[in-house]
Amino acid sequence: MLENGLGHLKSDPKPEKQSMRRKSPPKKKKKKNTSAKGEEEKKKMSPEDALPNSGSTINRGSTTVEECERMIHKSMKRPMVKFLMESIEKAGCGIGRSFFKAVECDRVFSGGYCPGEGILVCSNHMRLQDDVNQVIIHELIHAYDDCRAANLDWSDCAHHACSEIRAGHLSGDCHYKRELLRKFIKLRGHEQECVRRRVMKSVLSNPYCSESAAKDAMASVWDVCYNDTSPFDRAP
Ligand SMILES: [Zn+2]
Repeated sequence: MLENGLGHLKSDPKPEKQSMRRKSPPKKKKKKNTSAKGEEEKKKMSPEDALPNSGSTINRGSTTVEECERMIHKSMKRPMVKFLMESIEKAGCGIGRSFFKAVECDRVFSGGYCPGEGILVCSNHMRLQDDVNQVIIHELIHAYDDCRAANLDWSDCAHHACSEIRAGHLSGDCHYKRELLRKFIKLRGHEQECVRRRVMKSVLSNPYCSESAAKDAMASVWDVCYNDTSPFDRAP
């Protein structure tokens, strides 16, 4: 989902979130509100508001929104998820009760992060608890990056690539067991290759990044961002 999502470039920051917002975006097309609930719903997160960034395309199962919400609650009890949430709060960004949201998505992405707002998990692309854990950890790393770097600009391909490199590397998205499940079985050097593949996929879904821009961006920030394991001491 969300590869055409421009919501992360919204130019109407709420005052209390200003520290997490960035410079004004270029003009974007008018976002249409597809919700039947109308005005009231407009302020809430929607798939159109999320970053085109998950890079996860687990598309082999489905749960209901309710079941997915339950799985999200389970995820929130996991040490790594708790640690990331605490790190985000320590960095000065609150995580409210509605930070995580299960939604049905019409695209193949498994989840997304809405800058300054929260994380969406696509229930219709989740099957196992592990799928949900994985999405949440990946997106929390984006949320952490968004919080700690006041000038992070998601429309900048290098900024986006950096956060994807970190999220891919630190979340274990490319753990060899997951890669085996995906049938990418070349083990030697697989982790970096896998991270690169997923970073490209995510950055390419950013409407501001062409293929060559995405490639250049990833190459230019790779070393710094791959080795930046914050808030962890080293890659988990
Ligand atoms: Zn991502």
